[in-house]
Amino acid sequence: MKKIFFLFIVLGSLNLIWAQNFNTKNNKNIPIVSVSIPPQAFFIEKIAGNTLKVNIILPSNTNEHHFEFKPSIMKKLEQSEIYFTIGLEFEKIFIDKFHHNFPNLEIINMQKNIKLLDFQDSHHGEQKDPHTWLDPILVQTMALNIYDALAQKYPENKNFYKENLNKFLAELDNLNLQISSKLENTKQKEFIVYHPSWAYFAKRYHLIQIPVEILGKEPKIKELKQLITFIKNKHIKTIFVQNGFPENAAKALARQCDAQIYVINHLSKDWEKELLNVSDALSKALK
Ligand SMILES: [Zn+2]
Repeated sequence: MKKIFFLFIVLGSLNLIWAQNFNTKNNKNIPIVSVSIPPQAFFIEKIAGNTLKVNIILPSNTNEHHFEFKPSIMKKLEQSEIYFTIGLEFEKIFIDKFHHNFPNLEIINMQKNIKLLDFQDSHHGEQKDPHTWLDPILVQTMALNIYDALAQKYPENKNFYKENLNKFLAELDNLNLQISSKLENTKQKEFIVYHPSWAYFAKRYHLIQIPVEILGKEPKIKELKQLITFIKNKHIKTIFVQNGFPENAAKALARQCDAQIYVINHLSKDWEKELLNVSDALSKALK
């Protein structure tokens, strides 16, 4: 009886060791790729399914233009096989360091083959507008870029990725049609948004974004007064504000113009749902 009991314990612990080994081995086998912002993770997961783990550098409630790189982020990047960039300022500062510190880390520009607009929020258009991820048709180009990079790096999954790519491209066509139909009959074309991240979206759906923020800062009294006059003349009743950006100027504006604040999240990981929500809110606001 003692012997049998002992055997059970041995078998039990062997089983435990085996399970632990198996789990770590399994986790180790899943390659990690990094991205800058949550919507990029949404796009990659659409194509890669669960063949990859996606490490997101920026949380969704931060200002993507004023972001400081921390050593803990470097650690996560070190474990990654690919880093997909999206044209943000902090990436440029660190790309040289990446090449030097992590020679094996492949860096892929997710915006390849996209014609970038001048950034409305920079001096004399010296900077390109990075917010391409808010236009479903441009996201199709990004999906192709993701597919190319993954098919080359992980050829064993190529067919799976191709199938997922085609599905995702069709979903994006459908999303584009849904947004178009929500916004095609709006009387008003101008919408007020705190941070000018909607230029590509506005261009696609024939709208005009009017930012509250000027050159990345809260507007001065004079600029605010001009904006108030504009909002009153146009009878605008909604001001869109992004999560993670200062709301004071927008709130002051809303009070003075008898308008409402509508909070949006242009960095949401739940990307498709967020675009549909914003479209609904815009369609209501611009009726
Ligand atoms: Zn931005």
